Amino acid sequence: MRIDKMLSNIGHGSRKEVKKLLKDGAVQVNEKVVKDPGYHVDTEKDSITVHGEEAQYREFIYLMMNKPPGVISATEDDRDETVIDLLELDDSIFEPFPVGRLDKDTEGLLLITNDGQLAHRLLSPKKHVPKTYFAVIEGEVTEEDILAFKEGVVLDDGYETKPAKLNILKSGIRSDIELTITEGKFHQVKRMFQSVGKRVVYLQRLTMGPLSLDESLELGEYRELTEEELEALM
Ligand code: URA
Repeated sequence: MRIDKMLSNIGHGSRKEVKKLLKDGAVQVNEKVVKDPGYHVDTEKDSITVHGEEAQYREFIYLMMNKPPGVISATEDDRDETVIDLLELDDSIFEPFPVGRLDKDTEGLLLITNDGQLAHRLLSPKKHVPKTYFAVIEGEVTEEDILAFKEGVVLDDGYETKPAKLNILKSGIRSDIELTITEGKFHQVKRMFQSVGKRVVYLQRLTMGPLSLDESLELGEYRELTEEELEALM
């Protein structure tokens, strides 16, 4: 693989920035300075350093994003900005994609990766991966709703939902709730509330499996998963 591509992909900046690093003599391959951006490296065998620090190539990237509203969770869209457009990465090799969908107006935890197997495991209906959402509901959420969600409600297309755990944080003409579901039907949370005659006015995903939204991430910000988070996912 070309050294400029490799370094860019593991986060040493854009191809242009990497070119400058090379030109400045900051990059060594097997203890020899390499300045040519087109120099080919063997990512398994060569020892590559940038400013003396080891640069380890990896195949997969795992990012946690706090998805902002107004952005589509897809890789491309003709009209709207996508979560991938928000990444400051040279994605030519990684080709990351969001794991599952959040609606355009939904905020919160979104995993972005290029690890197809992991994505498949997390999204497989057979795995029942729990996802917890915080929502603001127009209308008073009641004990009956807790029971209805526990037993399963029938959505507008006739689908009966699996047991879900509803926790009322604040009840009133607007209610704050947390809901944990183990499925991922289209607009599921909104449609579950619709089935009990209520409307979701704000929706945020807090968790997905073992991952919890990092509260220090501003909307639109992202970071790599930590070792612990990755281990918990694998
Ligand atoms: N349920 C919804 O209704 N929307 C989302 O974005 C996620 C879950």
